Amino acid sequence: MNKDREYSNLGMGRAIARRDFLQGVAIGLTGAYATLSGTTADGLEQASTAEDEAQYPPLRKGLRGQYPAAVAEFDRIRQGAYGQFPLAEADIREEYDLVIVGGGISGLCAAYFYQTALGPAQRILILDNHDDFGGHAKRNEFHYQGRTFIGFGGTMGIATPFPYSYCAKALIRDLGIEVERGSEFHNREIEEKYSLSSGVFFDKEHFGEDRLVAGQGRLPWKAFFEKAPLSEAASRDLIRLHGKNPDYMAGLSEEEKRARLAKMSYQDFLLRTAKMSTDALPYFLGEGGRNNKRVDTMPALEAARHGAIGFNGLGLKFEESFNEGSYLFHFPDGNASIARLLVAKLIPAAVPGKQSMDTVVKAQLNYQRLDEPDTTLRIRLSSTVVRVQHDSAPESARSVRVAYIQDGKLQGVRGRHCILACYNGFIASLMPELSDRQREALAYPVKVPMMYTNVLLRKWRAFEKLGVASISAPCMYHTDCRLDPGTTVGGYRGVTSPEEPILVHMMRNPNKPGLPRKEQNRAGQLELLSTTFEQFELEIRRQLGRMLGPGGFDPAEDIAAITVNRWPYGYAYTYDTLADPDVPQEQRPHVVGRQRFGRVTIANADAGAAAFTNQAIDEAHRAVQEILVHAGLT
Ligand SMILES: Cc1cc2nc3c(=O)[nH]c(=O)nc-3n(C[C@H](O)[C@H](O)[C@H](O)COP(=O)(O)OP(=O)(O)OC[C@H]3O[C@@H](n4cnc5c(N)ncnc54)[C@H](O)[C@@H]3O)c2cc1C
Repeated sequence: MNKDREYSNLGMGRAIARRDFLQGVAIGLTGAYATLSGTTADGLEQASTAEDEAQYPPLRKGLRGQYPAAVAEFDRIRQGAYGQFPLAEADIREEYDLVIVGGGISGLCAAYFYQTALGPAQRILILDNHDDFGGHAKRNEFHYQGRTFIGFGGTMGIATPFPYSYCAKALIRDLGIEVERGSEFHNREIEEKYSLSSGVFFDKEHFGEDRLVAGQGRLPWKAFFEKAPLSEAASRDLIRLHGKNPDYMAGLSEEEKRARLAKMSYQDFLLRTAKMSTDALPYFLGEGGRNNKRVDTMPALEAARHGAIGFNGLGLKFEESFNEGSYLFHFPDGNASIARLLVAKLIPAAVPGKQSMDTVVKAQLNYQRLDEPDTTLRIRLSSTVVRVQHDSAPESARSVRVAYIQDGKLQGVRGRHCILACYNGFIASLMPELSDRQREALAYPVKVPMMYTNVLLRKWRAFEKLGVASISAPCMYHTDCRLDPGTTVGGYRGVTSPEEPILVHMMRNPNKPGLPRKEQNRAGQLELLSTTFEQFELEIRRQLGRMLGPGGFDPAEDIAAITVNRWPYGYAYTYDTLADPDVPQEQRPHVVGRQRFGRVTIANADAGAAAFTNQAIDEAHRAVQEILVHAGLT
C-alpha cells in the first residue's frame, strides 16, 4: 500500500502540522488558538485549548514523558560544556537553605523530610527540567465529550507495603494513603460483565499469520495453544512447559542447580536445558522481566524465582519474597497522585483544601502557585540544572552554587546545602570535581528505556467483540496493550460500557536482543530519543489496526487522542548475576557513587539501585539525614 493511502486509512493525515508543533519546543507559546492534541481528536480540540494546556501540563498530549525540550541540554551537559562554572558571582541572586535538583518523588520527599526536620521557615528550592513535577510519576489527562479521563504516564503502583521501610510506609500514611483499601477501587467491572480475558497477538512476521487468541491463562493451555498459529513442535513444547515439567537438571544438587541457573539466561535454559524448539522462542520475546530484563538477558535463576514457566520440576524452593505482581494500590494517574499529595503538603496554596487519597485525584492544581517569591518552598519547572559547584573546597565550603537553564537563559542560585535527586548517570558531568572513583561509579548504571503510551478510544466495542481486556503482543512494537478503565478512587468514575470512550495503555521497552543488557538499554535510549511523534503514532495506529481489526476497529475513526510518554531514562538500573560482577554491597557502584560530597548529597532511586517508589523515598531520607548529620543539625 502506498504511503498516502496508508496514512489516510490510519487517520494520520490531518494533524501532521500539529505534530511538528508538538516536538516539545513550542509548548509554552501563547497567543493564537492552537490545539496541542497529537491526533485528529475533534472532541479534544473543543475541550482543551493551548491556553488550557499551557496552564495545566497534565492535559498536554503528543510526545510527553522525557519530551525533547526537557532533555535538550543533556548532551551538552554530558559533553562537559559547563565544566567551568558558567556564571559570575554577581549573577547568583537567590539564596536558599536547600536546593534540590530533580522534582521526582525522591526530590519532593527530600523537601518534605528536610522541612519536617527543620521546620517550615527553611527556604527550599526544587529545580526540575520538565514542565510538570513528579519525575516518572506523571499524570495524563484528557477532556473529551464533557468528561475527564485520567491515565498514568509513568510509575503506576504502590506495591504491597511488605518491602517498604518504616520510613517509606510512614510517608505513605502521612499523605493519607491507605494501601490496604486498594481492592475497593479496582475496576474489574468490565472484565466480569463482558467476560473479557487476556489474549496473545501472534504476528505474521514471526508466526506466519496475524491472529489474536483470547483466553490466555483462562483456557487449558492445550486448548489455548491449539488455537495459535504455531508449528507442531512449538505448540507441543509450550504446552509441556506450561504444565508439570520433568527435572531438566536431574542429578544435580539444589545448590548446583542454583549456581548454574544464576549464570545462564532464561533463553538458554529454555532452549538448551529444557530443549524447547526454537520455533517457540518468539512467544517469549516480548517478556520484560523485572527491570526489563528480556528472555536473553534475564538470569534463569531470577526467572525461576519469579515463577516463570519451565522450572517447576527442578524442586527449587524459594523463600516467600516480595511479589512484584502484587501491586495493591494504584490511583488512575498512578503514583502521580503521590507527587500531588506531596506538593499539597509542601505548597498548600497550589492544591487548596485538605487532601487525602479520597480527594487528590479530582483536586484542582494551580501550577502558577508553585514558584512564588513569598513562599519558603518553591518548585521551579522547565529548569535544567547544568552545573553544581561548591563555593570553595568542598569540606570547608559554606554554600553550593547551582546553574540552570530556563527559557534558554542561564540562571544561578545558591544553597547552603544541595541534594541531587536527578539521574546518577549525569551527576559526574554536573560535578566534575568528584573523585574519579565516585564519577566512575555514578556512570556505571544505564537506565532502562521505556514507553508508556495512552490512547483515548472513542469506544471499545472491538475489545468486547474479541473478548479481551489485555493483549500481549510478543513481537510487536508495543508488547503489551490493555484497557485502562481507571480505578474508582475518590469519586473518579471508571468506564463501564463498550460505547463509552476509554483509555488504552500500551507498553514498550525498546531493546536490541543479543547485545549485553546495558548495551541494549543504550540502544533503546537512542532509539527513543531519535523517534518523532509521527513515527510513534504510525506504529500505534498500525498495531491497533492489526490486532483489533477483526473486531471492527478502525484506527482512523476510533482513536481520539494519543499521548506517548517516552522514558529513555526510565527504571533505575539493577544488578544481575549474568551482567554484573558479584561484589560486596559496599563496593557496589550505587553505594560508592552516592557518597556525600561536601554539602552535596545524592538521592533518587538510582542511588538505591532499585526502580521502586519506596526506594526513591528511602534514598531521599538518607540524603537528608546525611546533611543533618554533617551539619550537626540532628
Ligand atoms: C515507566 C515507569 C514505570 C514505573 N512503574 C513503577 C511502579 O509501578 N511502581 C514503583 O514503585 N516504581 C515504578 N517505577 C520506578 C520509578 O522510577 C520510581 O518509583 C520513582 O518514581 C523514581 O523517583 P525518583 O525521584 O527517584 O526519580 P525520577 O522520577 O526520575 O525523578 C528525577 C527527576 O530529576 C529530573 N532531572 C534529571 N536531571 C535533571 C537536571 N539536570 N536538572 C533538573 N532536573 C533534572 C528528572 O527529569 C526527573 O524529573 C517506574 C518507572 C518508570 C519509568
